[in-house]
Amino acid sequence: MMSYAFFDGEVVPSEEARVSIASHSLQYGTTCFGGLRGRVEGESVQLFRLKDHHTRLMKACKMLGFDYSISFEAFNDALTSLVASNTPDGDFYVRPFVFCPEEKLGPRFDTLNYDLAIYMMSISNYLAQDRGLNLCISSWRKYPDTCIPTKAKAGGAYLNSSLATTEAKLGGFDEAIMLDHEGYVAEGSVMNLLIVYRGEVIVPQVGSPILDGITMRTVVELLRDADIPIRFERIDRSMLYAADELILTGTAAQVAYADSVDRRSIGAGEAGPICQLLRKGFTEIYAGNHPRSEEWVTTLTLARAPK
Ligand code: PMP
Repeated sequence: MMSYAFFDGEVVPSEEARVSIASHSLQYGTTCFGGLRGRVEGESVQLFRLKDHHTRLMKACKMLGFDYSISFEAFNDALTSLVASNTPDGDFYVRPFVFCPEEKLGPRFDTLNYDLAIYMMSISNYLAQDRGLNLCISSWRKYPDTCIPTKAKAGGAYLNSSLATTEAKLGGFDEAIMLDHEGYVAEGSVMNLLIVYRGEVIVPQVGSPILDGITMRTVVELLRDADIPIRFERIDRSMLYAADELILTGTAAQVAYADSVDRRSIGAGEAGPICQLLRKGFTEIYAGNHPRSEEWVTTLTLARAPK
């Protein structure tokens, strides 16, 4: 974790951002969180789709029934002052989250007080970008929306992702793909996916048990810009094995491609044409060469102390 965190309404040294071991959040996983990627370009920092991350976090509070809200302006101010205090010198990850610091017994949400905290960590490539990934289908299914809202990044629900990733890593794979309760392809542990199948891009429908990923929303726009047809449909396991490309997307994952699923090889052993097109698209967005660059990329100037 970087030196400063936003906690209890202000930026404080990270070691002062503490909660009780009896807090509702620690005992019951009562949090919902966001995750943004920051890039350092010389003396400035670029944050991707800040407004959309704030909106998703606020909607998650609503879905879960957490009585908490913060305006975009206040959220932006908190995040901006935190980035200024930490003055990162390489790519980083920002984790804003709403949580309950209270010591309370009993799993119910409506009687709790919530707060926002934010911390930052250095991040490079969460998933390899310079080679294809070896994936497996997890024996753990993605929980259905009838159990936990799948459009909220609900802290406790990530036990499901942790089970899947742990199993995959112990089995010698890079990552896991989870099927949903009906056996259709849902998503990775912290990433969405798409396939190129018989020359078409197929993306699981948002109305299936997956997160409405901000990277995937961007990917869909990039594909539309390039007039590449997309179908939002169910994907079954055999379609993964038969895919020409399988791409994972996410804030941490960026745009990564698979070399194999369950040891069946996918693609030609290198980033396929759709993966390359998407990566180029993201480079253009950050370089300010996309019509929505200004809307999507927030640039902050860092004031570094002289060395
Ligand atoms: N699915 C899950 C379960 C995730 O945790 C994430 C990471 N936030 C994603 C998909 C990708 O979402 P995004 O592109 O917004 O990071």
